[in-house]
Amino acid sequence: MSNPTSRTVGFKAGERNIFFHILTACNLSCRHCYINASQHGAQTLSRQTIESWLRLFADPARKSNLVFLGGEPTLHPELSQCITAAKKLNYAVTVDSNGYLFHDFLERISPEELDYLSFSLDGPDASVNDPIRGKGVFDVCLGNMKKAVAAGFQVSVIYTVSKANIDHLHRMVPLLTEIGVKRFFIQVIGLRGESAVSAQKSGDERQETPQVSRNKWLEVVPEVAEMGARAGLHVTYPKVFLDKGEPFECAGEVAENYFIFPNGRVYQCPLCEDYALHTYTIEDGELIPRKGLTEKMLFPLKIEEGCVMNRLLQPDTIEYDDSGRPVARISCCLLKKEIY
Ligand code: SF4
Ligand code: SF4
Repeated sequence: MSNPTSRTVGFKAGERNIFFHILTACNLSCRHCYINASQHGAQTLSRQTIESWLRLFADPARKSNLVFLGGEPTLHPELSQCITAAKKLNYAVTVDSNGYLFHDFLERISPEELDYLSFSLDGPDASVNDPIRGKGVFDVCLGNMKKAVAAGFQVSVIYTVSKANIDHLHRMVPLLTEIGVKRFFIQVIGLRGESAVSAQKSGDERQETPQVSRNKWLEVVPEVAEMGARAGLHVTYPKVFLDKGEPFECAGEVAENYFIFPNGRVYQCPLCEDYALHTYTIEDGELIPRKGLTEKMLFPLKIEEGCVMNRLLQPDTIEYDDSGRPVARISCCLLKKEIY
């Protein structure tokens, strides 16, 4: 067998990614959930609103990847019609689900209309996954994943790495290849939403950060990714730590990413989502650039540590040497490595 191809995926020229949270409601309460209804809104967007917002971001002449997210997007009773509308606008469409696939989702959309159906699973068995995502979730998710593969959908899996599950990451490879999953996204837990709350508690309530150390990440993740590629999976994981001499780039400056929330906030950086720093708002069906302090003003700042937002929000994730210089710069959280 030939060696797998490994490469850092720069922010591809001309590529556009639209992450569309159509609601924030969810049937689960995962330990690391990043949904923040006070910042993102609690409403479920109507099909008419979703279709009109899709038109705002459509650019049929360029490749545009659209990800429908929540909350749990399949809780939306008209998700399948929204996918059909998105395909007519030439989007490549992915749905990110927790695996429950409400409203008979698999029966209401065809594999030809959906480019990827992505499932979130945080462990290779119930004993690892369910303490993080909820009792009984592993079995439901795995069962629906198998049904989706059997029905001909392209299935991918997202695994959010934390201290609770990093030692079980390697066991995902045989599980996913046996089921027939095509792509495996290894994600790093962010200190936002529920995980930020637990890290900020003081005294007896304070819990240890769920994020893994740099050494642990580098020791485990690239090796498992290579193992997955050798087994036939297309594996993607965040770069996180830049190599010496590797240039730093902020996606907010060089790429086109939009993170849309039901309350009309539109961000360009996912690390900013818990703050009113969004670049645009959607008002009366129009995309309006915001005045005042926005994330856009932070993107050009150059610091030794790499990503400015990571330095502001997660300073504990940066290691310094004895002279006070960062041991490694933190890459943009949107910079990925791919191996397949
Ligand atoms: S499935 Fe997603 S939205 Fe729902 S609780 Fe879990 S992390 Fe949050
Ligand atoms: S994560 Fe950091 S580098 Fe990436 S877009 Fe946000 S501020 Fe820029």
